[in-house]
Amino acid sequence: PLPIVAIVGRPNVGKSTLFNRLVGKRLALVDDMPGVTRDRREGDATLLGLEFRIVDTAGFEDEDPDTLPGRMRAQSEAAVGDADVALFLIDARAGVMPLDQSIARWLRQSDTPVIPIANKAEGKAGESGIIDAYSLGLGDPIPFSAEHGEGLVDLFEALRPYL
Ligand code: GDP
Ligand code: MG
Repeated sequence: PLPIVAIVGRPNVGKSTLFNRLVGKRLALVDDMPGVTRDRREGDATLLGLEFRIVDTAGFEDEDPDTLPGRMRAQSEAAVGDADVALFLIDARAGVMPLDQSIARWLRQSDTPVIPIANKAEGKAGESGIIDAYSLGLGDPIPFSAEHGEGLVDLFEALRPYL
């Protein structure tokens, strides 16, 4: 079986854009089911010859666990628990937000290795967000642009030890 890579992060940081870039057209939609599998998508990805299974998750929300966002968080936690490595995306243009910090706090406790990614880093607008991302306490962030395909070689090098 292929190794598993999970993508996590708050809403709108570019998780699905990254997923689509790595999977291309070979997408396998997971049936919508009640509870924790909601919005989970999986596909077979290739990155410069590395092959792995990739899981796109809904965003975390700081909400009561009984609410829908709480279930989305549970689903992301389950995806990370099942994965060989997790990609934690932040939006370098927005900088590190309180919700990113709370996700990072949880990820630091996880047994799954985490690679922090400063997405939307193309051009000048992402520079301060890249520096911000060092404060997540998860190691050196990878400057990345899922939309423009920048940072793919660095992502490859970061993933390779775990796959
Ligand atoms: P998700 O909610 O984390 O899955 O985020 P999406 O993949 O749906 O992306 C949210 C928005 O950010 C969309 O409008 C994307 O086009 C945009 N986006 C994603 N990646 C990038 C990027 O690398 N650079 C810029 N500037 N925008 C991006
Ligand atoms: Mg998405």
